Amino acid sequence: MSLLPKPTVEADAWVLRVWPCGETSIIASLLTRKYGYVRVVAKGARGARSRLRPLVEPGRLVNVEFSWDPDRELQYLRSGSVLMDSLSGSPTLEGTTFLLAALELADRCRPILGSRDDRTAGEVFAVCEEFLRVLSSDACGDPALLFFAFEWELLQRHGMAPEVAFCVSCGESPADKAESVTWFSPSDGGLVCGGCAHLGEGSRGNPLGPEALACLRRLSSCGLDIPVEQPMARSLRRQIGGHLHRFLGYHLPGYRLPSALELLRVGKESSR
Ligand SMILES: [Zn+2]
Repeated sequence: MSLLPKPTVEADAWVLRVWPCGETSIIASLLTRKYGYVRVVAKGARGARSRLRPLVEPGRLVNVEFSWDPDRELQYLRSGSVLMDSLSGSPTLEGTTFLLAALELADRCRPILGSRDDRTAGEVFAVCEEFLRVLSSDACGDPALLFFAFEWELLQRHGMAPEVAFCVSCGESPADKAESVTWFSPSDGGLVCGGCAHLGEGSRGNPLGPEALACLRRLSSCGLDIPVEQPMARSLRRQIGGHLHRFLGYHLPGYRLPSALELLRVGKESSR
């Protein structure tokens, strides 16, 4: 057995999720720019005076040093500093909820090739960075729409963005045929025009009205820079959320509705 000390590496990282571990420690899931997804244990971080504690708060961008043994599931967090705290200032409940949901999603939907797929992890790191930048800026008029854009970017980075310009079956644009109702099918990979849906071939998914189609097309062309004319109507928001939820569920292994969003839904229902 080797008694040589394990090498320590340093990286910028987003703190995605954390769990308590034992009596006093915390396990944190990090998305690093250099090493992809890394899980670290922060020994004693639940102690009030732990210097590791500020490094394991979800939503923070940190620069950390940790032991690096690629064969191990868990690395040891050694030290570091906080570069940015997305939850400082006075975030709204909605903003906080979508932030935590996005981090949970980034953690669950790891690249399919495994945690060592550094290229995709690096791209997801950049998507998180952009999402948090826009979310915490004054320009963010609608956190829900921004979150949908984040979901879209995540699908894109996994090579699975929905097709919304053309019908995936016949290749025509529904706008050319002046159709008012189209369909959105996760198993077909996106838009299905009314004509193809009525041929009854395969699954046609769920109906998609013109307003929802226009919104999905904006998501596909704008990315996280999506302009907000006005906050989305609640019904449209529910439709888009549902379509993307089913699409992610079909295409990204590990996906489930982020628990933060379940909380928001419960909050809305109980406040009625
Ligand atoms: Zn068609």
